[in-house]
Amino acid sequence: METLEIKDLHVSVKDDDTQKSKEILTGVNLVMHTGEVHAIMGPNGTGKSTLSETIMGNPHYQVTQGDILLNNESLLEKPVDARARAGLFLAMQYPAEIKGITNMDFLRAAINARRPEKQPIAIKDFLAQLDEALSILNMTEDMAARYLNEGFSGGERKRNEILQLLMIKPTFAILDELDSGLDIDALQVVSKGVNHVMGPNFGTLMITHYKRILKYIHPDQVHVMMGGRIVKSGDAKLADRLEDEGYAGLRDELGIHV
Ligand code: ADP
Ligand code: MG
Ligand code: MG
Repeated sequence: METLEIKDLHVSVKDDDTQKSKEILTGVNLVMHTGEVHAIMGPNGTGKSTLSETIMGNPHYQVTQGDILLNNESLLEKPVDARARAGLFLAMQYPAEIKGITNMDFLRAAINARRPEKQPIAIKDFLAQLDEALSILNMTEDMAARYLNEGFSGGERKRNEILQLLMIKPTFAILDELDSGLDIDALQVVSKGVNHVMGPNFGTLMITHYKRILKYIHPDQVHVMMGGRIVKSGDAKLADRLEDEGYAGLRDELGIHV
């Protein structure tokens, strides 16, 4: 079993205009293990994407206090690529276009980066895995030959993130609003992809505004984030409660004014 632990994490970002530092995360605590699905819900602007980007190592986000530990080892000094090799994966809320790199090239490079002690993956094996992943996601082969996300619709980009997930097979995946902008068919397809990688050697942190994706990907724990930290954790029923009461009910209960 592997463990990802977020310990009293405080994170600031510098505002591009004023150059002033602003604290976004104000002490996040979270422990997750492989074999588990965790969901984080929370209002807009509360720092969910900041948490995702910081776990993955985006240098724009400055950790001012606390730690991020993978199997008790701090990741803070490690750049993004080292964290990816260690088994972390982030499906971004807004996946970027990369011109000049095909999906296939990207996937092969990412897979090979995770097996430094081994030979690069054989083309035959790579293509067999790619075929399987494409079919799980109802994607056509030409998607793999196209430049990374170039001209992809929002839904295609999200599907493409899950293609990467299926091919790279990380230990921990953070899925930042995977469900945003997806119609119900696309939501079911990407959920099928996530459920396909689920198992004892995989853990996922799903960030979402809405309960609907949790119908397809069942969380073991649901956390609510407000004001840059997790204010309440519970089981799937907590998501039902949020859907019924909105965040206002929790704010009242916890006496939070953010
Ligand atoms: P959420 O994902 O919960 O909607 P975010 O993490 O995107 O929240 O944003 C939290 C706060 O941090 C917002 O006030 C946002 O404006 C600010 N923020 C996030 N990323 C940046 C950034 N790169 N530069 C400046 N401010 C940022
Ligand atoms: Mg947001
Ligand atoms: Mg966000």
